[in-house]
Amino acid sequence: MEKYPGEALSSEEMKKVTQEKWSPRVKYAWSCGEAMSRFLNELKKGKLIGRKCHTCGRVIFPPKMFCEICFKPTDEWVYLPDTGTVMTYSASYLDKDANRITEPILVGVIAIDGASEDMGIMHYFGEMTADEITFGKKVQAVWKPEKERTGSVTDIKWFKPLKE
Ligand SMILES: [Zn+2]
Repeated sequence: MEKYPGEALSSEEMKKVTQEKWSPRVKYAWSCGEAMSRFLNELKKGKLIGRKCHTCGRVIFPPKMFCEICFKPTDEWVYLPDTGTVMTYSASYLDKDANRITEPILVGVIAIDGASEDMGIMHYFGEMTADEITFGKKVQAVWKPEKERTGSVTDIKWFKPLKE
């Protein structure tokens, strides 16, 4: 260091010149797009909504503003019932933190009535045991009370067996 002009910085001095404290004002609005925004706002009201494509006739759920089969914008909003069919399910004996649990968490994909084939949403199942759930079982959404809803898919607590 002696052959260079100036003076070497100590570790403490180095911290002063390489660090900066800054409190950014990160105020911003975030949009999840026209279709997903409407879908989430309808969940807050306790309703399920999809989009219909008039060309192929499909009811797309969750909704999309563009039909990937017809390669054109979708045409119409369509309300759907909060009932459906168990397409897939799994009983997990591990919780979210990978701890072993005795009562399994039931999750799976539900095909909502009125939506086209191969569409569904993933959610919890409740008010039934792992032995009672089957492929093709009819289920219905159990909604949180209106004042607890936030515009999230968790505004539905779980899907329970549909009473006929
Ligand atoms: Zn289409």
